[in-house]
Amino acid sequence: MRLVQIDTIRLANHPRAIFVALHTDDGLVGYGETYDTPEAVESYIHDRGAATLLGKDPLAIDKHWDKLHREPRLMMGKTVEVRALSALDVALWDLFGKATNLPVWQLLGGLTRDKIRVYNTCAGYEYQGEWGEGYHSTAKGSDSQHPYEDLYAFLNHPAELAKSLISEGYSQMKIWPFDHFAEQNGGTHISLQDLKKGLEPFKKIREAVGDQIEIAAELHNLWSLPAAIRISKALEDYKPVWIEDPIPMDNPRALASFRESTSIPVCASETIGTRWGFREMFELGALDIAMLDVTWTGGISEARKIATMAEVYSLPVAPHDCVGPFTLAANIHLCMNLPNAMVQEVVRAFMSGWYKDVSVGLPEVINGYIHAPHNPGLGVQLKPEVYKRSDAVVRTTTEKVIS
Ligand SMILES: [Mg+2]
Repeated sequence: MRLVQIDTIRLANHPRAIFVALHTDDGLVGYGETYDTPEAVESYIHDRGAATLLGKDPLAIDKHWDKLHREPRLMMGKTVEVRALSALDVALWDLFGKATNLPVWQLLGGLTRDKIRVYNTCAGYEYQGEWGEGYHSTAKGSDSQHPYEDLYAFLNHPAELAKSLISEGYSQMKIWPFDHFAEQNGGTHISLQDLKKGLEPFKKIREAVGDQIEIAAELHNLWSLPAAIRISKALEDYKPVWIEDPIPMDNPRALASFRESTSIPVCASETIGTRWGFREMFELGALDIAMLDVTWTGGISEARKIATMAEVYSLPVAPHDCVGPFTLAANIHLCMNLPNAMVQEVVRAFMSGWYKDVSVGLPEVINGYIHAPHNPGLGVQLKPEVYKRSDAVVRTTTEKVIS
């Protein structure tokens, strides 16, 4: 028996209700429902729900539950609600800047620095493609004519990639060569042979360029605690600048015991939403570097509060951007103001690719740094033609006038 169709049903007279119907290939129909923000739920069901269930055996309930729970487990408070709040908050700060004719960093309290060091996350142009099985390891792109297929590069010619980044002034890069091994067994174990293969890019980069570039090891929350400890022990010889999201972030005590097991600084986590999500991480000493994502964790308003919490524990922040041009812009303004901003993430394939297709005004990376922008607000605009793109779905809600 296979699942072949998913329907969702919303009713105007019951505006917070939503029903779901699952159809099998032999004609059975299963019904369910939930309540509140039904359009957001509908969207999620037809996106991740459909990708998880269609074509599958409906009776493997625990397997589907685990798969569907994996993403919210990694969301750690950055729910649909918090991500919507984040987008709205960033737009409000942009308006604040435009209304006062000042850049956002000035509204936050002015410049602590006039430039921020950036590092390249070695994703390719298509890294944000369709979600699904093997997301991290199969969205490799190719060794095409484009110059920044950096995911393919770190798996296939890491030494040349490191040299390319150094030639552009980058002092740090981030790679994730262990991910595809985790996808084979749910991250429960890494064999010595796979460990050796995952270490190869680190080894080749160090052999080629020595200590000229820092390497961050990204584990994407994919591993069990013992497997993550095994990886970090093996990585210690290569002195990564940090090891990121080694295990899922929903058990700060487990992360704290990971941190005690390794000499590599622990960076966590873009997957944590709001200051309440970060509180126990700080209190238990579970991390060394706070990676916050401004448009996932609650916007500029919340990101500055989380950064201030980190500051009282003498911890730096390293804002996340593998997201979009307005996230990067918001991060740049935060980094100009925050005393404890360490380094800003960028993806050169995105900055030279789709960010430029949809927006104008993002500052360039110059010799490994981004300088303070001086236009009002975020200083980045959505290109008007984006509204008219054939792939654009534009929905507008206007103020209801009560007469
Ligand atoms: Mg990350």
